[in-house]
Amino acid sequence: MIACPRCGGQLPPQARFCAHCGAPLGTEGAAPAQFWLAPARPAPVSEASASRREVRLWVTILYWIGAALSFGVAALYAAGLALPGALDQAASAQKTDPGQLRLAVIFVVMYFAALCLSHVVAAIGLTLRKPWAKVVATLAAALWVFTCVGVPVVAVVIFFLWRPVSPSRSAGDSQR
Ligand SMILES: [Zn+2]
Repeated sequence: MIACPRCGGQLPPQARFCAHCGAPLGTEGAAPAQFWLAPARPAPVSEASASRREVRLWVTILYWIGAALSFGVAALYAAGLALPGALDQAASAQKTDPGQLRLAVIFVVMYFAALCLSHVVAAIGLTLRKPWAKVVATLAAALWVFTCVGVPVVAVVIFFLWRPVSPSRSAGDSQR
């Protein structure tokens, strides 16, 4: 028994054609059959990956806004650290230890600085349509989960970030 190269069906050794799928067998039959089965069409593949890499403009804009917003928060808290007496005043108002408050403020500054940096990298990647941009953007968005307002916004952004954009589908959506 031999196996058909196309469908894998079991055939007698002297068979010239497959009894299951009709594929020609033997030295002159097998090679053309494989040639027919694997046509080289690189153009549609690259087109599809290009559309998958595309991200909605408002998502990219949101990352630039996020970068600006987190920079603002980081700068605000950094100013609180830099201004002499501001920290002690806030500590006495809240009746907390100035050293502990300083640590908390340093943490907030570092957190929002990291948020700003990751958003700038993600926004640049999304604008230039880099293949790594979506991964960086997802990580950057996930950082907002640690803020109290972030969770629903992050969920929406990550959803639209990975949702493929195709012109035919968006046309169908608008008709509905
Ligand atoms: Zn077959």
